Amino acid sequence: MYAKFCVNRETAVNFTRLFVNRRAYAIQAERALPNGSVPYYPARDWKTREPKLLDDGVVRMHLNGDITISLYAINPETQRSKWVAIDADFDGALEALFQLQWELKQDGVDAALEQSRRGGHLWIFGAEPLLASECRIYVYNLALRLGVPVKGGGLKEGIEVFPRQDRLEDRELGNAIRAPLGVHRKTNRRYWFYEAEPSPEAQLAYLDRLTKLTEAELRTFTEGMSLPEAYRPVAPVPYNPPALSSRFPEFRILDYVRTTRKDGRNWWARCPSCAQAGRDRTGDNLAIQVKDPRFYKCWAGCSKEEIRAALGQPIRKRAMV
Ligand SMILES: [Zn+2]
Repeated sequence: MYAKFCVNRETAVNFTRLFVNRRAYAIQAERALPNGSVPYYPARDWKTREPKLLDDGVVRMHLNGDITISLYAINPETQRSKWVAIDADFDGALEALFQLQWELKQDGVDAALEQSRRGGHLWIFGAEPLLASECRIYVYNLALRLGVPVKGGGLKEGIEVFPRQDRLEDRELGNAIRAPLGVHRKTNRRYWFYEAEPSPEAQLAYLDRLTKLTEAELRTFTEGMSLPEAYRPVAPVPYNPPALSSRFPEFRILDYVRTTRKDGRNWWARCPSCAQAGRDRTGDNLAIQVKDPRFYKCWAGCSKEEIRAALGQPIRKRAMV
């Protein structure tokens, strides 16, 4: 079991200053799904379904161990993030993170290593919120120079860089990462930063002392660089509406998702709503009936409305009944 804390408001404010760049957040389920994963859901008001906003009270509950939250990197109003987190959970993950940490130090950049369930997260903090696209160019090029594997671009195992996007559309969430210093619901453990005592106050004091990366430095480090080709986002395939036989063309989910496999009765695909919340990494939460693809279901519990909204194809309300 994990230690419970009772942090004060000032501690929550310190956490927010370091980590929170937008008020949308996700919350980890209290119990595991049958497949053993403990998913995160975007925090919403249970009645209105509007996103709930992160405040000091929520942060205190996270630090105390009452709930566990995850944070979205990019604020779509500025396309900036307060931090870069490098997630590694493969064989040799810690060696790779140590290597990155050392190389960053050569640039004069402090990076803090946090334990995780199967490896670690390496955090870099901005002196001010930094452009997500520039952060990504910096870390991708650094990793490739060191020969550290980067997930995607043909590699199944490797580091993942948060922010995971260069930019977000308005109201888009992007990918969330487990907020540090809380309790992982899968193991009921806290995973601390290596370099400080295991309490929220000591950990935050340590993070405060780190040298923060300025925008001017980041510009210098990335001058003339771009995101390596293999990792550039794939342009979305344009949607071709069906023939104008009916006034309201039928929505066909298979036009929007890429299926990962098929079993007897279903196609399986990444659930768009889960993906937006940074979940469904294995890409098989969404089952689509082969016989009649109008029937589909997210096994993590997203509603049809949420799936359609995530695809930018909200369910049309009937004007007249
Ligand atoms: Zn889902």
